[in-house]
Amino acid sequence: MKKDLNLKTRSNLEEVGDLTDCLFCKIANKELPSEIVYEDDDVLAFRDINPQAPVHVLIIPKRHIASLSDLTEDDKDAMGHLMFVASKLAGDLGIGEGFRVVVNCGKDAGQSVFHIHMHLLGGRSLGWPPG
Ligand code: 5GP
Ligand code: ZN
Repeated sequence: MKKDLNLKTRSNLEEVGDLTDCLFCKIANKELPSEIVYEDDDVLAFRDINPQAPVHVLIIPKRHIASLSDLTEDDKDAMGHLMFVASKLAGDLGIGEGFRVVVNCGKDAGQSVFHIHMHLLGGRSLGWPPG
């Protein structure tokens, strides 16, 4: 089991390549600008550059994790932290009455940036099922 996880992590690192090339690591490090709505030691939340709803925020761990498929036991607290920030931000950003959190995992699900991120969407009626 542990061996499998190690192999997976190694292959995904190869997919991302040099971590210094990771777009969201650069945003987390403030090497690239973003419209930040929340920050603490471990998490950054910023507005999506191509919003799909009146409120569309991306919530990321500052530490690089490629995708949900790459989580290890060590990441459980980090993922809970992201979810808690989503809950708090929904209220702060005025969408507490109805919002959606989405984590796309892998190319077939539409993941385009391989640094894990939670989309927080709201401010309009959200259809179901998603596309
Ligand atoms: P994914 O498709 O991987 O689930 O989501 C990636 C999201 O990142 C997309 O919604 C896309 O609009 C957003 N995005 C891509 N590049 C940038 C950027 O440079 N800045 C910001 N703020 N968002 C970005
Ligand atoms: Zn990264």
